[in-house]
Amino acid sequence: MASQEIETLAGALARLPGLGPRSARRAVLWLVKRRETALRQLVSALQEVQDKLVECGTCGNVDTQNPCGICTDPRRDQRSLCVVEDVADLWALDRAKLFTGRYHVLGGRLSALDGVGPEDLSIGILLERVRQGGIDEVVLATNATLEGQTTAHYIAERLEGMPVRITQLAHGLPVGGELDYLDEGTLAQALRARRPVG
Ligand SMILES: [Zn+2]
Repeated sequence: MASQEIETLAGALARLPGLGPRSARRAVLWLVKRRETALRQLVSALQEVQDKLVECGTCGNVDTQNPCGICTDPRRDQRSLCVVEDVADLWALDRAKLFTGRYHVLGGRLSALDGVGPEDLSIGILLERVRQGGIDEVVLATNATLEGQTTAHYIAERLEGMPVRITQLAHGLPVGGELDYLDEGTLAQALRARRPVG
């Protein structure tokens, strides 16, 4: 029997995406054997994240400030808004350094299977941002999965009649492709060749 402390930590780690109970327990043992190096470093990195990182109230990005560095950067084009599913997608697109506007993080994708409806995502806040004006283009950069595309179509419908150009990442993204797995060249190309919706 492992100690309660090890079980508790392994249980917490096992909830992380991509880690099962078995690999979580192995990770804990690995850390315990490296108390003064890896474990100490992990504890302090986790503490920093808990103390310093906040969610941007405007776009949903995770940063050390709210509003985030992207939302407050005056060099960024305020007239262009790129809609992504998750913060990881925002970071992937931003690494590609081709999009110079701002972002909106939905916090997921519509999914009948997982019971995720429009009210579970920040679609209302997105519509409000567009309604406030000053935005010319909304780029729908959801994943090239069925749920990602369903989400994009739903948002495009809700934006209908508002004075914005709605575009979507070019096909050529691999079907089922999740943005944060794509290399920067592919992403940049999809963004450069974006096309109007509908
Ligand atoms: Zn922001």
